[in-house]
Amino acid sequence: EAPAPETAALLAKRQQNFAASQKHYYGHPPQFERGWKEHMFSVEGRAYLDMVNNVTILGHGHPRLSAAIGRQWSMLNTNSRFHYAAVAEFSERLASLAPDGLDTVFLVNSGSEAVDLALRLAWAHTGHRNILSLLEAYHGWTVASDAVSTSIADNPNALETRPGWVRPVLSPNTYRGRFRGEDTTADYVAAVAQKLAEIEAVGEGLAGFIAESVYGNAGGIVLPKGYLSEVYARVRDRGGLCIADEVQIGYGRLGHHFWGFEHQGVIPDIITVAKGMGNGHPLGAVITRRDIADSLEREGYFFSSSGGSPVSSAVGMTVLDVMADEQLQENARTVGDHLKYRLEGLIDQFPIVGAVHGMGLYLGLEFVRNRQTLEPATQETTAICNRLLDLGVIMQPTGDHLNVLKIKPPLCLSIESADFFVDMLEKVLLEGW
Ligand code: PMP
Repeated sequence: EAPAPETAALLAKRQQNFAASQKHYYGHPPQFERGWKEHMFSVEGRAYLDMVNNVTILGHGHPRLSAAIGRQWSMLNTNSRFHYAAVAEFSERLASLAPDGLDTVFLVNSGSEAVDLALRLAWAHTGHRNILSLLEAYHGWTVASDAVSTSIADNPNALETRPGWVRPVLSPNTYRGRFRGEDTTADYVAAVAQKLAEIEAVGEGLAGFIAESVYGNAGGIVLPKGYLSEVYARVRDRGGLCIADEVQIGYGRLGHHFWGFEHQGVIPDIITVAKGMGNGHPLGAVITRRDIADSLEREGYFFSSSGGSPVSSAVGMTVLDVMADEQLQENARTVGDHLKYRLEGLIDQFPIVGAVHGMGLYLGLEFVRNRQTLEPATQETTAICNRLLDLGVIMQPTGDHLNVLKIKPPLCLSIESADFFVDMLEKVLLEGW
């Protein structure tokens, strides 16, 4: 369907002045102007179910958040070199969400910044440079967070262009990785041990290990049982720090856990968090131990102009208040369980549906051309997403082969919306693509 002339003209304008590497979804994207809960509305007034927005965890247009922002803006907004209530109160609340011992908080403005700072902390604390990072990973766009991003989905040359301090290890992808099935922990741990031995063999030290504890960028893959506790032990044995990147999967989204690392029963040394914690307002954090945080001080002061500003801190606290009052983690669990159950029903019906990964409201539905070879159904996934848009559902692919539907809607998703999504997906799969 051809877009309205105004929509097409605006798109042309965007293409003229907005750098092209900042891609937009869809060939003919609708022009959006409003959002409410898990829906977005186009200028034509059409409602779309937003099944990918993992940032807006409270939902779009939350009135309590806009009121809190407006109130704080009109009272005071400055930087954290001044003393005001919000930064102290928000830091205390964030620290109270983390495991005991992780009581020290840095406030920044994005996930990339949080990961960047986490890496700097690991370097400063250990005095070493090497970082183990999983293959298939995305951790951000800044120089250091991009360096540990190994995914070839957006950057086909990623693996040839990582700096030497980045030490990629096998992706513990139990569905399509080198070792398949639940019983692969020892194999994937051995791959890490081998990498550690290689670093030692050249006489170098280790700064740390970074991973998503439920593997979001690989499509919501649950790591093999016990993987992180084995890996963390080996990394610590070599003096490295363990960084849990919770930017995408943490903060209640998994429903069954607030943090992804809880699912693996481990406690990291450094947690990075962003996205949902600001519900779209630029907000990120690093939560760590006091001794690790202090290591950075030897390099000088750390200062972020808007990190932890009164407005950002007020946003962070309001998000936590609304999450608690509206029981959004609980909703992620119940609606997520229902959604996963319904999606799993598609496996028997359609050979292209290879598996459903993940938990809570971080789910990945993986399309394959052949269930033995697991040949990724990449073009089909794009076609399915395009057809879903026609039917009023926003959905996008993820994973190194872009053949996994990344299902990560606002945490206020209703059962009815979850059912609508599965009904529309079923319709597309019945139609063919
Ligand atoms: N880490 C992970 C796991 C992410 O998914 C992302 C964003 N997709 C980032 C870090 C970077 O966050 P931001 O876009 O807020 O810089």
